[in-house]
Amino acid sequence: MFTVDAEWPGPYIDGEWRTDGRKTVTVENPATREQVTEVTFATAGDVDDAYEAIERAQSSWADSPTQRVQVFENAMDLLAEHRDNIVELLAVESGSAASKGHQEVTKSIDLLDTATQLPFRTTNTVAASRVPGKRNEVHRDPVGSVGVITPWNVPLKLAVQSIAPALALGNGVVLKPAPDTPISGGLVLARLFEEAGVPDGIFNVVPGYGEDIGARVVEHPSPKAVSFTGSTTVGQQVGHAAVDGFKSAMLELGGNNPHIVTEDADLDRAIDGGLFATFSHQGQACISINRHLVHESVYDEYVDRFAARAADLPIGDPRDVDTVIGPIINETQRDKIVGYIQETVEQGATVELGGEYDDLFVEPTVISGVTNDMAAACNEHFGPIAPVIPFSTDEEAVKIANDTEYGLTASVHAGTEDRARRIVAKLETGMAHINDQTVNSEPDMPFGGVGASGIGRHNGEWIIEKFTTTRWVSVQEESRDYPL
Ligand code: NAD
Repeated sequence: MFTVDAEWPGPYIDGEWRTDGRKTVTVENPATREQVTEVTFATAGDVDDAYEAIERAQSSWADSPTQRVQVFENAMDLLAEHRDNIVELLAVESGSAASKGHQEVTKSIDLLDTATQLPFRTTNTVAASRVPGKRNEVHRDPVGSVGVITPWNVPLKLAVQSIAPALALGNGVVLKPAPDTPISGGLVLARLFEEAGVPDGIFNVVPGYGEDIGARVVEHPSPKAVSFTGSTTVGQQVGHAAVDGFKSAMLELGGNNPHIVTEDADLDRAIDGGLFATFSHQGQACISINRHLVHESVYDEYVDRFAARAADLPIGDPRDVDTVIGPIINETQRDKIVGYIQETVEQGATVELGGEYDDLFVEPTVISGVTNDMAAACNEHFGPIAPVIPFSTDEEAVKIANDTEYGLTASVHAGTEDRARRIVAKLETGMAHINDQTVNSEPDMPFGGVGASGIGRHNGEWIIEKFTTTRWVSVQEESRDYPL
């Protein structure tokens, strides 16, 4: 059911798989360049049908909290049962090494598990009124339908991060996965929820390109909330379209995350964490470490030791269990990454390790002598690159860290927690991790950024706000004196 060779047809709408008369798109394995399968993409009419199906089905879904919990429990069991197949799908479609693929499945199960509590967390409250004889109530209702648009880098988990709370809170969902990952980011979830017993029309998947199908998912009048995870440029367009249609927008966008290491830090721990968050999934995560900011007195030692460790990371096909560094998702992304490396060298920096590529495999790359205005530092490079920038005071480190339009996450290693906390207090980010690295997400902790990194927070009470609407209902229990 979930193997690479299984049938992966096309759009899943109102409980049915649609294929006839639609264009098909080849899904390619970025490691081998072999065709994985062909997937049928949705039409704009499919998006309209999906929202209409939600309008028919959503109110009884909203009225059945125990049914929602049962569907989620079934989905969790299925994910656990088919874990290995789904990890393989993530490997062949998105170039995910086994450790990253397993993490994605585990975190998706955690998100579904946490969402099973949401149907019971949206209690209505009663409040006192300033008007004699009146009873005030604050109701929290589902918004109705939610449009979800996701990227290719962590396709399964980032979809679940939005669809699990949206569905658990009693909404219907239309999910548009990225065109590079229509299966692991979309059709897997359609099959999972279909098998788990989701009622027809409540969960719909429309594989397709952004400019037509993605735009339709956002602009259709039906959804009152839109959850977008992807680049800042597209996120800004989605945000504008959402406001034009009077919808709330949850925007999880790009990052340019610093890893700050002071001279009294434990370098072993700083390098361990730095290595993981720089090279995990080839650096293709919004929460990857993008810049290493290292005190000048330990700078050379850090660069040498970091490069020596990075040199040992195995590169290869993600289906090989030993692989750490898999392929970049496509040529466009690879060319951007390689371009940033070349430009940074032209600007005066030195490649200490890597810098070369073979087809879609980019070598782990460590660059020294970097300043924050160089290409690999001032752009979200989204690749296996560690630009290392020296600093001389904590104030300077903070200034460099904040000198970016983004504000997603950061990590700080310092000799004392107090010193690290003082640095963290001045960082302009939505998340910050002391004595660790930046690749952290927990289903109950607020996930999101400030500035060009987005608006809103996933998880916990923060996502309840986004996918429900608040309503004041009052009951005038005694007759009231009006002033006329
Ligand atoms: P992208 O913005 O190109 O695409 C994201 C999604 O938007 C895709 O499904 C795409 O088809 C769709 N899309 C494109 N144009 C659209 C339009 N006009 N209207 C509606 N939808 C449209 O991003 P990507 O290249 O897939 O992913 C990489 C980016 O995502 C990076 O910038 C990364 O930092 C960011 N990202 C952020 C987070 C986060 O949680 N903050 C997580 C993962 C990725």
